[in-house]
Amino acid sequence: IADTVKEEVLPQDEQDFDIELQKFAASVEATEGHKQRRIALLSKLSRVLQTNFPEEDIELTTFGSTESNLALRRSDVDICIQTHSRTSKLQTTCQLARLLHEEGLVNIVCIPRARVPIVKAWDPSLGIACDINLNNSLAKTNTAMIKACVEYDARIRPMALLIKHWAKCRKFNGTKGKGVLSSYTITCMLLNYLQLTDPPILPSMVALQQNDYCKPKVQLNEKSIGSLFIGFFEYYGYRFEYESYVISVKQGYLLSKKTKVWDSDQNNILCVEEPFNNMRNLANTANEMEVMGLRLEFQRAYQILKRSRDHAGLVETFREF
Ligand code: ATP
Ligand code: MG
Repeated sequence: IADTVKEEVLPQDEQDFDIELQKFAASVEATEGHKQRRIALLSKLSRVLQTNFPEEDIELTTFGSTESNLALRRSDVDICIQTHSRTSKLQTTCQLARLLHEEGLVNIVCIPRARVPIVKAWDPSLGIACDINLNNSLAKTNTAMIKACVEYDARIRPMALLIKHWAKCRKFNGTKGKGVLSSYTITCMLLNYLQLTDPPILPSMVALQQNDYCKPKVQLNEKSIGSLFIGFFEYYGYRFEYESYVISVKQGYLLSKKTKVWDSDQNNILCVEEPFNNMRNLANTANEMEVMGLRLEFQRAYQILKRSRDHAGLVETFREF
């Protein structure tokens, strides 16, 4: 599978299911057209900023799935605008929203009071959505970490694409701030599961950073993509103890809610530590009922895939809710 995996032949049915999963992942990943539209949107934005703030040193970068190579056909483009001038005239997301409106973008939602203020918009001429923030450097850092993890082992990318797609199909991943879990949060859940499999597929983020995000010479875990994929649903459906533990991609293991003093807050039903800010719970958007629903969704997917490791099983797993 991966170039780092020792060659060992998987049973035929596992090989067939892996091929099926990879085909499915390829059918949901962003197309070349999506990439072109993303580039066109960036140059449009760049032009708008240059026209409105000709004197200023403003930098446009993308982050999120388009950078970590996890973009789906239905992904938005996450854009960060950094103003390097100390007295920049571009100060608020509302200013930005006005400029986007003048440029013909629609469905503009400005969330100025969020932890990271963002503007969401849809470009009808390009058929693409974007989330734009101002000066958010954390997003770049954690995107680089996701990218390094995705590149660590060739089995991770198809699994991450499929799990993000599954979350969208089953409607518990809304856009940031709305859904039960963001794509980023569920990706961190997948990474931690891969850190905890025996032997681990992925080291802790701390170890990864110490190693300069380098790949291992030999990957000790040779499981098929299919068995790992099904194992993910089983783990979060039946085995993970939501009441007691915090998912930590940074440490590569589970932390105790109690030790972290995260056990008495009702926003901490499901706990996923932000790797670069361990005071932040990425899953604080999910309440008790929603976590229960989520758990049932993991169980549903596991039950379907356990019965039918084939194309029909996948179609049923991803059935739009
Ligand atoms: P999609 O393809 O569905 O757009 P994505 O992989 O781009 O998914 P998002 O949830 O859109 O993931 O998040 C984009 C980026 O924003 C993440 O890679 C991460 O860098 C950052 N991010 C998202 N949510 C948070 C959060 N709660 N705290 C910190 N950073 C976040
Ligand atoms: Mg995104």
